[in-house]
Amino acid sequence: MGDCIFCKIIAGEIPSKKIYEDDKVLAFYDISPAAPVHFLVIPKEHISSANELTKENSEIVSHIFMIINKIVKELGIADSGYRIVNNCGADGGQTVNHIHFHILGARELKWPPG
Ligand code: AMP
Ligand code: ZN
Repeated sequence: MGDCIFCKIIAGEIPSKKIYEDDKVLAFYDISPAAPVHFLVIPKEHISSANELTKENSEIVSHIFMIINKIVKELGIADSGYRIVNNCGADGGQTVNHIHFHILGARELKWPPG
């Protein structure tokens, strides 16, 4: 998708601090961390938001959760806990229109979010 910043990261046109990559997903550190550990996991397929998930493309979500499960163990935050966040649309605070999951950890997180 022409001007999608996350598609550009996938294509290597914009640098990122990669944590994990396979043929379907990419995980990389958020450029503006909101917690001591803050990374993003995105599908390589451009899906604009959770609103665009379908029966056909939604298998990627379970794959992403399994990758998160693996990474949090490697980063040592599985036992202390963490938060998985998907912002959708304007009220949800989505600023990049390529579906992504934030993983925040290594500090106690407040609830509810603002
Ligand atoms: P959201 O507000 O849920 O759409 O989240 C978008 C996230 O992408 C924000 O936390 C940004 O800090 C992050 N972000 C934007 N550009 C980059 C980039 N070039 N590399 C890493 N993270 C980025
Ligand atoms: Zn994209």
